[in-house]
Amino acid sequence: MDFKQIFNAAFEVEASAPGRVNLLGEHTDYNDGFVLPTAIPQQTTVYIGQSLNDRHHFYSAELEEWIDIHPAESTPPGFARYIDGCIRVLEETGYSIPPINLFVTSAVPIGSGLSSSAALEVATLRGLRSLLNLDLDDVTIAQLGQQAEIQYAGVNCGILDQMACSLADTEHLLFLDTRTLDRQILPFPTEAEIVVIDSGVARSLASSGYNQRRAECEAAARQLGVKALRDISDPQRVESLPEPIRQRARHVITENNRVLKAVEGVSAKTFGELMNASHRSLREDYEVSVPALDQLVDLLQNTSGVYGARLTGAGFGGACVALVAVGEGKAIAETVLKQYNNAGHQGNILVD
Ligand code: ADP
Ligand code: MG
Repeated sequence: MDFKQIFNAAFEVEASAPGRVNLLGEHTDYNDGFVLPTAIPQQTTVYIGQSLNDRHHFYSAELEEWIDIHPAESTPPGFARYIDGCIRVLEETGYSIPPINLFVTSAVPIGSGLSSSAALEVATLRGLRSLLNLDLDDVTIAQLGQQAEIQYAGVNCGILDQMACSLADTEHLLFLDTRTLDRQILPFPTEAEIVVIDSGVARSLASSGYNQRRAECEAAARQLGVKALRDISDPQRVESLPEPIRQRARHVITENNRVLKAVEGVSAKTFGELMNASHRSLREDYEVSVPALDQLVDLLQNTSGVYGARLTGAGFGGACVALVAVGEGKAIAETVLKQYNNAGHQGNILVD
């Protein structure tokens, strides 16, 4: 199916945005902290034309789902919230958006923690920018996408996903300070590339667990008298806190320190060790891992050619990312996946 078959007209603009994977800096973005994502090769593409009537029409090739909305109606549930949310935040910013036809198709795995939602938002906003000649820079697009996700999809997310999908590329790391939005485009560690493997475990507890962790971090910051945990760099300071917020705060503080260490231009080996330490911290202090993720990370970490591995995304299921020797990603991913699936799982390779 393409735009023409669905809407019986030609599209006017086309826009894309990639998914992303975060190498270090997990659960730090809503603590005003540091993150280090890169874009993945898979992209989401939208095709947009003006609607021939007074309604918006959206079609997703992946979901094979069609939704139409009158701009005066409230946003319907499902994937349309992300697109309609983008339109509405633009309207709230003062732009006037005509009814549109939008066709979306994507190679970004949906719901695996590689940010298909932010890729959809950024692609939609880029498409509307070119359709209507809107004066929006890439940072503004990321911020509008985040607002759409918070206000209309009901996901209380930080800015990591949208900034990565809007500003990162596959050849570099995006070092981002989520408080100031200061950023640097950095090279990968020498002789290294990434592998991403989905654990096959759905992130069923992810949204309740995520909201709880956020609340715990806010409580920790309050008790330590700082605006956000980002304002603390000495992990010793958490010792005055009660459990479990002590260990939650320790993860965030040590994770920020790991990002700051990684961007000093360390070797792939040191970078990998920081990723291993990040996984340990996510498992023991932040408690967002599950046995299948631990198993997958363990297999990766014990495979020759792997510098380091950890769960990526919010946790409770989803994917693992590894830093591996350049040129060996495909072979490593296949070896590890075979072992993992032989142990009774249903993983699959997302990036190699
Ligand atoms: P992630 O961003 O990690 O992939 P989310 O749960 O945040 O997972 O976002 C997934 C949601 O984004 C989907 O349930 C769907 O509503 C929307 N979405 C993403 N990509 C598409 C697509 N190609 N077609 C339709 N909806 C999509
Ligand atoms: Mg998402």
